[in-house]
Amino acid sequence: MPAPAPNVYAPPEGEPPRAVYLHVPFCQHRCGYCDFTLVARQDDLIPQWLTALGNELQRLDRPYEVDTIFVGGGTPTHLNETQLEEFFQLIRSHFNLSENGEFSIEANPDGLTDSKLTLLQQCGINRISLGVQSFDDDVLQVLERTHRADEAQEVIHQCSEFIPDVSLDLIFGVPDQQLELWQTTLETALSLPISHVSTYGLTFEKGTAFEQRRRAGDLLPVMDDVERNMYAFAIDVIPESGRAHYETSNFAMPGHECRHNMVYWDASEYFGFGPGAARYVNGVRSTNARNVTRWIRDWLENRDSLQDHEVLSADARAREAIYLAMRLVRGLNVPEFETRFNVSLTELVGNEVTHHIEGGMLEVVDGWLRLTREGRFVADSVMIDLV
Ligand code: SF4
Repeated sequence: MPAPAPNVYAPPEGEPPRAVYLHVPFCQHRCGYCDFTLVARQDDLIPQWLTALGNELQRLDRPYEVDTIFVGGGTPTHLNETQLEEFFQLIRSHFNLSENGEFSIEANPDGLTDSKLTLLQQCGINRISLGVQSFDDDVLQVLERTHRADEAQEVIHQCSEFIPDVSLDLIFGVPDQQLELWQTTLETALSLPISHVSTYGLTFEKGTAFEQRRRAGDLLPVMDDVERNMYAFAIDVIPESGRAHYETSNFAMPGHECRHNMVYWDASEYFGFGPGAARYVNGVRSTNARNVTRWIRDWLENRDSLQDHEVLSADARAREAIYLAMRLVRGLNVPEFETRFNVSLTELVGNEVTHHIEGGMLEVVDGWLRLTREGRFVADSVMIDLV
């Protein structure tokens, strides 16, 4: 018989997490490539989701002070203003943001009115991450996005008047996207008032409409060398604009790195609420049910709604910290790591590290273990050897 799930809402035993993620699982429609936890065209569920979220948050033993709050989705700004106010009120009653804390929200360019942005500003949002994906209308159409490129540019300027930090998500490797189109999208992005940019290669996730179309031969992925050239262009050109490459997919002006995501890459603990949300508290990683209606039903009846959980051993925690740090351009500070986990890096993964150093994929510079530039292009295969 499997061991019963631990109480994932138990009060933290040591220092409480300083970060919280909240998931808003609603979108206007589901884009063909998206496998995130969400429902589309089911806005009638929003009031029930808010009640369910309130019940889940009630499981905390007390309010916590955090340094970062990240509201992700879905499209959090798909909520109307009344729903957003209720949502922020819920957050406020369970979390206090420390002075100079980071309060991020994900948003899409459509539907962001001045009135909604004013509300976000008044509620303390100081970082907005916009799902722009491309500044080419043909690429946006392939991705089944509902905004146009010129609208996105306008919205970025508009956001920058309300919210100090604006970040963009961009996708490369879209079927039929030529390298030149990606270069133009990046050049447009870099001319805009943004402090942060994230670039992701398109993936064909299992269960998505894109994956089915790929199998049917209706969508052809770009060639590997084209995708590699697109990534190479990004990591060469974006830093020239002053937005340094600090993580596999992320670039930021100095001091504008996403502090919330740094918590993940630092293998630190964090709270998580809402359908599909992950948390890491008391050495237990757990993920909420990804089925939105199941999660709502469970929490309306005040029942935990977990997809899975894992109690990490000391060894697993240390290995995971190495794996996650390899996402960071600066890499892993080896002396700090050995003190924090009370383990020798050489004993843990010495053979694998030596193998990849000899192969030119890893290097150690001033006590930091990190991927080389060449290693960045095959990061997944190197990182998997370190787990
Ligand atoms: S808008 Fe974003 S979260 Fe919503 S379906 Fe499209 S890709 Fe997924």
